[in-house]
Amino acid sequence: MGTRLVVPFALRKEALESVHDGHFDEIKCVLRARLAVYWPGWDEQVRNAVVSCAICQEHRHRNPQLPLPGLGAGLCLPTSFIRPV
Ligand SMILES: [Zn+2]
Repeated sequence: MGTRLVVPFALRKEALESVHDGHFDEIKCVLRARLAVYWPGWDEQVRNAVVSCAICQEHRHRNPQLPLPGLGAGLCLPTSFIRPV
């Protein structure tokens, strides 16, 4: 079990930048944050950071997203994870 750091308000922007470092997709960033940090509303702010990132939006068409059933409309999985059985 990991330990999550409760991030004070003054450091949340920096924490968001660290979580989004490398411009990974929304699900990767949420999973990354879930392992390391916490503050009220962290998950929505992480998703917003990805959605509002110009670099991610520019390259979004290269890695289209599909919603994951049961995990909320905002949590998506890249279609590259879907393979024929
Ligand atoms: Zn980005």
